[in-house]
Amino acid sequence: MSNKDNLTQLSELGEFGLIQRISEKIKLNNISTLKGVGDDAAVLDYNKDQIIVTSDMLLENVHFNLVYVPLKHLGYKAVMVNLSDVYAMNAKPEQITVAIAVSSRFTVEAIDALYDGILLACEKFGVDLVGGDTTSSQSGLIISITAIGRANKNEIVYRNTASKGDLVCVTGDLGGAYMGLQLLEREKEIFNANPGIQPSLDGNDYILGRQLKPIARGDIYEIFKDLKLMPTAMIDVSDGLSSEIMHIGFGSKLGAKIVEEKIPIAPETINLAKEMNLDPTVCAMSGGEDYELLFTINPDDYDKIKNSPDFTVIGTMVDEAEGFLLISRDGTPVGIESQGYNAFLKSKE
Ligand SMILES: [Mg+2]
Repeated sequence: MSNKDNLTQLSELGEFGLIQRISEKIKLNNISTLKGVGDDAAVLDYNKDQIIVTSDMLLENVHFNLVYVPLKHLGYKAVMVNLSDVYAMNAKPEQITVAIAVSSRFTVEAIDALYDGILLACEKFGVDLVGGDTTSSQSGLIISITAIGRANKNEIVYRNTASKGDLVCVTGDLGGAYMGLQLLEREKEIFNANPGIQPSLDGNDYILGRQLKPIARGDIYEIFKDLKLMPTAMIDVSDGLSSEIMHIGFGSKLGAKIVEEKIPIAPETINLAKEMNLDPTVCAMSGGEDYELLFTINPDDYDKIKNSPDFTVIGTMVDEAEGFLLISRDGTPVGIESQGYNAFLKSKE
């Protein structure tokens, strides 16, 4: 986008023109979508299923930085964040609405790129974009997405329903998205100090992908069905393992013991963390944005997951009085604190 002359100002298109332009690209996938974009409101038919609704708002320079996040990736990730919350209820997302506020510095082509990412996410996950709003902003880009999904009421998994003795499990690996952010921040600083130096992001595709292109675990929703496994409690890992296990624990009136050496962390994450003098475990516990699923299961169900590469058992739910403990590699129990995570997160902004 170096040649500004070829780009179209939003004012040339107007709001109706913009909506028309976006609407033409929408394809509908779900029979639950009776009416999508094009009337005052969408109409959905969920028959006898229960409806899951979740929203998330992303603000420029608070939740994302357009210096290093391409708009297409941003659109894609904004959808993933919401779908992840629906999957965390053991439900299937079927619709989203997208509201954006943009300042005049954004061109039509920039908004196209944003929606290309949004619609790519919809296509990959079989979700319909059924409505939203576009308005102007005085201070950069704001994206608010609402996701709507379905579940049979007996299949919804809440975060406050774990039992003592349940095994704590996690999908995928943790800490990568945080290291991706650290890498992008480091290269931005170097670039700001000396714009002649090209960013050195080579060899870190996995880590960068974890930050820029997270994948909501819709596959796990299917795997649970195949395994006939119902987690006893579940949450997605948006804020780091520490805070998520505490959400399950506080909600269920229990504590938890997490075994440090069991926490799945990719070799790429470990290597980069060490290079940047960070503790990989801290990245997994406090980093966030991995969008994996953290869940508990009845120990009787262990056989269903023990051979699956998708799951790792990392701990056990214990009595509330025992609190939240990380059993370190040398066997020493260390208290898990949410306070640490809050302070840690500030460096992201
Ligand atoms: Mg969540």
